[in-house]
Amino acid sequence: MERLIDRHGRVATDLRVSLTDRCNLRCTYCMPPEGLDWMPTEEQLTDAEVVRLVGVAAAHLGVEEVRFTGGEPLVRRGLVDIVAQVHAAHPGLELSMTTNGLGLARTATALAEAGLHRVNVSLDTVRRDTFTELTRRDRLDDVVAGLAAADAAGLGPIKVNAVLIRGVNDDQAPELLAWCLERGYELRFIEQMPLDAQHGWQRDEMVTADEILASLQARFDLSPAVEPRGSAPAELFRVEGGPATVGVIASVTRPFCGDCDRVRLTADGQVRNCLFAREESDLRAALRAGATDAELAERWRAAVIGKAPGHGIDDPTFLQPGRPMSAIGG
Ligand code: SAM
Ligand code: SF4
Repeated sequence: MERLIDRHGRVATDLRVSLTDRCNLRCTYCMPPEGLDWMPTEEQLTDAEVVRLVGVAAAHLGVEEVRFTGGEPLVRRGLVDIVAQVHAAHPGLELSMTTNGLGLARTATALAEAGLHRVNVSLDTVRRDTFTELTRRDRLDDVVAGLAAADAAGLGPIKVNAVLIRGVNDDQAPELLAWCLERGYELRFIEQMPLDAQHGWQRDEMVTADEILASLQARFDLSPAVEPRGSAPAELFRVEGGPATVGVIASVTRPFCGDCDRVRLTADGQVRNCLFAREESDLRAALRAGATDAELAERWRAAVIGKAPGHGIDDPTFLQPGRPMSAIGG
């Protein structure tokens, strides 16, 4: 099989599929309080189109893992059906989802039965007032219930993603880790990236990986868990000798672009090689014009060849991408 190889020799085997740009939270580092101008429905891939493109990636391009994301994937009505169809057609494909957890308590069992393997749930704090400040919604209890339901449904190991914001929750890293350790969830901190719709990100305001580690080390003994980390973005540390681990995804201060194995499909059917890419390749138009699976695969390969060597956040010429994280698929 001819895989998705770029001219720097990287092979994309991990596909991130955004199912919607909509969301029921308003995380301050992601979008403004009023939300965004959502994508018109006719521009969004239908359920059948999503299933077809994921199938092309699996059958023709060597993609091994698919992660559904958004926006909030749980607000996509056809989610369980999409998972079920993809799983039935490609049972060997690893299927996961990144979600804010709202509504997961209701859907976790159905998702597991449909063939979803794992979830990452985003949770930046376990304090109700901080949660409400960060997400602009008083929904902490729903996320906590969603996590427990996902665990009970077998969607583990459960991973928790957290972003620290200076002056809001940057003093809460050890508390969040203790909470996750008690429940057996694997916590990963993600450095805040310049992907917010409001373009408010500032390098010197960002809580760095070094700061996160220092704050955790004040309470926990951490030792490197896996070396080298390969294509996995998280640097993992054993907590108190293990087996529990905590991860730090230092996308900004320690970029891992050289090992990247990812490719993205937006909710409107555009291939993106990187969160920070400034170009996209339209698969939806070809799909709707009647392209065969082999033709779609060929377009997809051509789109990946030109993947940039790195995200360039530290370059003086860096420009934030036109689409925010929620519209690309985080
Ligand atoms: N709504 C789902 C969620 O929150 O998990 C999926 C989409 S969200 C865009 C995916 C992940 O990106 C979440 O873990 C979120 O915390 C993270 N994220 C959003 N904006 C970010 C930013 N500016 N920098 C770093 N991570 C960000
Ligand atoms: Fe929604 Fe996820 Fe963005 Fe928060 S980070 S506003 S949950 S898309």
